[in-house]
Amino acid sequence: MTKELLGFIGVGRMGAPMARRLIAAGYSLTVYDTNEAAVAPLVALGATQARSIAQVASAAETVFASLPTPEIVQAVAAAVATGNRVRTFIDLSTTGPRVAAEVGEALAASGITAIDCPVSGGVMGAEKGTLAVVVAGPRDVYDRLKPALDVIGKSFYVGERPGQAQVVKLVNNLLSVTALAITSEGMAMGVKAGIDATIMLDAINAGSGRNSATQDKFPRNVVPRTFDMGFALALSYKDIRLCLEEAERLGVPTIVGNAVKQVLGIAKATQGPDADLTTIVKAVESWAGVEVK
Ligand code: NAD
Repeated sequence: MTKELLGFIGVGRMGAPMARRLIAAGYSLTVYDTNEAAVAPLVALGATQARSIAQVASAAETVFASLPTPEIVQAVAAAVATGNRVRTFIDLSTTGPRVAAEVGEALAASGITAIDCPVSGGVMGAEKGTLAVVVAGPRDVYDRLKPALDVIGKSFYVGERPGQAQVVKLVNNLLSVTALAITSEGMAMGVKAGIDATIMLDAINAGSGRNSATQDKFPRNVVPRTFDMGFALALSYKDIRLCLEEAERLGVPTIVGNAVKQVLGIAKATQGPDADLTTIVKAVESWAGVEVK
């Protein structure tokens, strides 16, 4: 059975696997990305390639976006508003609460409902359809969209106002990067003390220090030295910056958060903005003079 026609803008590391799952679930997709090479594999699966954002928004009533920066999301949303069919814009990107609210207001002026819909769970979660999908926007629109959201993960409705889902997402990412940064320090310490990295992780994962870095990122991406989690340092830095800006606006202290932002900044400066987030460990390793492997 053919389901609703959907638009999808931005089919990079996260967007592509989400788009693939929607196609596999029977949705027709009209896709646009400035990088044509990213679109071709989806066309091979049956998607239609659009030549502009306006073309996507004139083909589909519901348009998804998965884009790298808040500035790009704002520009894309403005272009979406020029389409003549779109009614709902679902932003899967991490943009921060302020931009999500601004995008919501700007689109409302054109009669388009914005759904603030950041996702968590990485490229692997996007491939398996196990993402945490945090949603803020009108409840009735969420209820209507839920079958499509169920294809990409498990959704959590958090409120009516675009921007509220971004707060949950940013806090999630702050916790996740904090775990990665502190695990880098702890693991470098263990290895320098002569302990096998894998045995140390096994012990911690059976104990109270376990976290997403000890359970997933270190065994999968750091110890095998593959550094292929699929999330760029620059995007993570953007998330933490947005999180701390919002905390400041709300008047909440972020002492630990600011330390983590500094560690991330050092990693970005030394490894490069496109390096994988898991290379954060290298900043600690070069100082400590050991490798966690
Ligand atoms: P990415 O850079 O791999 O993909 C972004 C895509 O957007 C690219 O294909 C790029 O060509 C395209 N693009 C850029 N400008 C465009 C424009 N003006 N019009 C159309 N397409 C454009 O990034 P990603 O890792 O897939 O992340 C996308 C979003 O998801 C970000 O907001 C990120 O913070 C968030 N996110 C990423 C992960 C992850 O693990 N990678 C996890 C959760 C959330």
